Amino acid sequence: MKTSELPPTRKGRHFEIRAIGLRDFAGLTRDDERLNPFELAQYAKLLVAPFEKIEPFLSEETKQQLLKDGRDAWSGGACSQTLPDGSKLIILNPTHGENRQNATLMEEICHVFMGHKPSRLSVENRNKQGKIIARDYNQDIEEEAYSIGAAALVPYSSLKRFVEQGKTSREIARHFNVSRELVDYRIKVSRLWETYKKNVLSGE
Ligand SMILES: [Zn+2]
Repeated sequence: MKTSELPPTRKGRHFEIRAIGLRDFAGLTRDDERLNPFELAQYAKLLVAPFEKIEPFLSEETKQQLLKDGRDAWSGGACSQTLPDGSKLIILNPTHGENRQNATLMEEICHVFMGHKPSRLSVENRNKQGKIIARDYNQDIEEEAYSIGAAALVPYSSLKRFVEQGKTSREIARHFNVSRELVDYRIKVSRLWETYKKNVLSGE
């Protein structure tokens, strides 16, 4: 691995190396290939339950809370208890778009791969920009899982190339099937924002 393929910050490299490992594990060979978290989830023994399957077991009040009043207060959840076959049940917020669900699921997958142990039902609470909106969480663990997941979805080396080619974050987001906010976040934490401003924003 060449150092030019890794982000300039120490933290960024820590996340990137693990993200590259995950992409290898998923069988991806090119850095600009789209990663499908739903396929990777199977290797991580995560069972992603479609919300319709859970819905009949929920009370009207709970449904109202999850899908209406509190729909922006959660992005996904994992049951801390494993199922008899060793897999873990995940639920994704069905009111969120596919690209946002991809980021949430990647975060859950990274928790598993990094061996983070949830003490109880763990709920992902992130807004569109990926910022945590809950009070009760372990900041380091959450940052690690989210950052590795985001790096696996949008690898640094291909992101850098795209930014240098003058691609917009919207185009990059479409390429990787993620939200524009996630690409903007990746550009910023990868210290590519200056290049992006010069190559892309100045021409808009
Ligand atoms: Zn998390």
